[in-house]
Amino acid sequence: KDCDLVLLVIDARAGIVALDRHFADWLRRFDKPVVLVANKCEARGTAAGALAEGWGLGLGEAVAISAEHGEGMGELRDAIAARIGASPPGEENPEAEEPPAALAGPLKLAIVGRPNVGKSTLVNALIGEERMLTGPEAGITRDAIAVDWTHKGRAIRLVDTAGLRRRAKVEGKLERLSTGDTLRTIRFAEVVVLVVDSEQMLEKQDLAIARLVIDEGRALVLAVNKWDLVTEPAAALKSLVRRIEVSLPQVKGIKVVTLSALTRQRVHALIDAVVAAHKVWNKKVPTPILNRWLQHMVGQHSPPLVGGRRIKPRYMTQTGARPPAFTLFCSKAADLPEDYRRYLVNGLREQFGLPGTPIRLTLRQGENPFAGKK
Ligand code: GDP
Repeated sequence: KDCDLVLLVIDARAGIVALDRHFADWLRRFDKPVVLVANKCEARGTAAGALAEGWGLGLGEAVAISAEHGEGMGELRDAIAARIGASPPGEENPEAEEPPAALAGPLKLAIVGRPNVGKSTLVNALIGEERMLTGPEAGITRDAIAVDWTHKGRAIRLVDTAGLRRRAKVEGKLERLSTGDTLRTIRFAEVVVLVVDSEQMLEKQDLAIARLVIDEGRALVLAVNKWDLVTEPAAALKSLVRRIEVSLPQVKGIKVVTLSALTRQRVHALIDAVVAAHKVWNKKVPTPILNRWLQHMVGQHSPPLVGGRRIKPRYMTQTGARPPAFTLFCSKAADLPEDYRRYLVNGLREQFGLPGTPIRLTLRQGENPFAGKK
């Protein structure tokens, strides 16, 4: 029901069987384009009969392929393009402008966390359909690669965590996560929701995943699930916030959403937080504004003397977004103390509205980037 096009695959060696006819009739009830694909056509003699018979299904001419040998892929691509009206690769208009990468297209979201924290339940609640199955059995999440939906007009693409889930459960390693799978999921996403369990909030494994997300430079949102089980919410929240301040100072101001995937309470608030985090993560600060701010910061509190000479921050520019990255040109850059660097990073965060995102600050030795022109 959700697709744009259906490929009905038949086995050319077996010929058309009753089940093929059944599916062909069934598919005709939907108003969807169908391409009939005759597979296993590598042995030419066998294909002819099936191709002729294929006409009888009333779905037009079959495309002969051999999936195993990779034959007929060009024809199949053409047939797909012809049905959905897209130009085949290589024929796009080269003049066409790329949309600005940052905010065009769906927001790529991943949901990660230890097994049993409620990821699958949350996904079901989010997309409002039972697309992923949850329950006690091992490895039952369907292996969907991505699910698209729209939240308040914003297109969201959920990158599935099926691989992670399956491996964790099938191998019975309930206490061990496969870092490789989590990492792959994280790299695929722009915003990562880390789901933790209200009854075991931010334990070692949770923090390890959070640090992976931060190290990869993704926007992180914390979802505290099973909040319906919490008897003293105010106290629980207070201890959680303290824990975050101590354990994850790199993402000061990170969004924390308490929710219940089971009762669907505050599930939409989570997506509001995701969209907000994505915006922050994409933010760009114009250079003149940045340098006025830098002068002010240095005026308020100047760096210490080193060997009788003052370290002078000269010039700052934003050298990247997703996550925000800044470069500071500074005399005696190597001597700038860590607490001064923190002073600047925290200042950037507060002044330019960058809560909860990792901020990268690179120091460069030098007067300013135009020093050579003096
Ligand atoms: P996953 O391994 O992270 O995908 O976790 P599941 O979605 O399979 O959930 C694990 C268990 O926690 C299931 O028994 C769920 O019914 C339960 N669960 C999930 N979300 C909630 C919630 O918000 N509240 C409560 N009380 N239980 C939940």
